[in-house]
Amino acid sequence: MKDFAADPSHPRYESLLKRHILEGAAEKGMLAGSALIAHGRGEAYDYLIGEQTIDSAMLATKHALYQLKNAKNPVISVNGNTTALAGEDLLKLASLLNCPIEVNIFYRTAKRMQVLLNHLEEIKSKLGLNVEILGASPDALIPGLEGPRAKCCQNGIYSSDVILVPLEDGDRCEALVAMGKIVIVVDLNPLSRSAKMGSITIVDEVSRVAKNLVTGFDFQEEKLEFPFDNDINLQLTLKHINEFLSDLSSSVD
Ligand code: ATP
Ligand code: MG
Repeated sequence: MKDFAADPSHPRYESLLKRHILEGAAEKGMLAGSALIAHGRGEAYDYLIGEQTIDSAMLATKHALYQLKNAKNPVISVNGNTTALAGEDLLKLASLLNCPIEVNIFYRTAKRMQVLLNHLEEIKSKLGLNVEILGASPDALIPGLEGPRAKCCQNGIYSSDVILVPLEDGDRCEALVAMGKIVIVVDLNPLSRSAKMGSITIVDEVSRVAKNLVTGFDFQEEKLEFPFDNDINLQLTLKHINEFLSDLSSSVD
C-alpha cells in the first residue's frame, strides 16, 4: 500500500483520502469487486449536493437518531465500504445506543466476512468499546431473498425493529421493510431503489452521516416534527439538487 501523497491543503483532499482508504481496504480483502464502482457512483452524486450535508439530509439524520434511540432492538448493519469508511464512528454509535453491529455483505465469502469482523474487532479494542459484533455465525434468513444474501443473525438484524443499513441493495432493503422494520438507508443516490424503499433515507456520504450521528447524539428531540415523510424529504433533496445545478448553470456566460 503506497503512502498517501495528498496533504490537507489539496482542494480534493477529503475525496482523495476516501479513495485511499478504499484502496487499502481492497488490498486487505475487505471489498467485493464492484465496491469501487459503487463508490464512484456515490462520488458523482456527492458533487450534486456540493459534497456537504444538506438540510434534508440533516433532518433525516435527526429522525434516524430518534428512531434508533427509541427502538426496542436497534441494530447497525455494515458492508465492506461502510466498514472501511465509517467503521469507527458506527462502532461509537453502537456503543452509545448499546446495540449490536452486524456485518452483512452482498457477495458473502467466509474470508471477506472474517477480514471485516477482524477490522471491527481491532477498532473496538483500540477504542476500548463494549459492543457486540455479529455476523460470524448467521442463524436466520431474511424472508423473500434467495441464497447467501438472505443470511443474517437472529439476535441482530432478524429480530431488530429499527435497522440502520447504509449503502444497502434495493432488493434487500425492500425485504427488510416487508419484515415490518423501520429501515434507515444512507445512499447518495436519491433515485436508487434503496432510497425510495427506505423508511428514512439519508442522502449524504456515509462517513459524514456516521460523524453526524455521533456528534449529534444528544440533539433536542422535542424540536422534531412527526410524522416524517420520506417521499417529501426525497423531493426536497431533488429540489435542492435542481436549484444547485440551476445556480451553477446561470453563472455560465
Ligand atoms: P439500488 O439497488 O438501491 O437500486 P444501485 O444498484 O444503483 O441501487 P448499489 O450498487 O446497490 O446501487 O449500491 C451502491 C449505492 O451506494 C449507490 O447508489 C451509491 O450512490 C451509494 N454510495 C456509494 N458510496 C457511498 C458513500 N460513501 N456514501 C453514501 N452512499 C454511497
Ligand atoms: Mg443494487
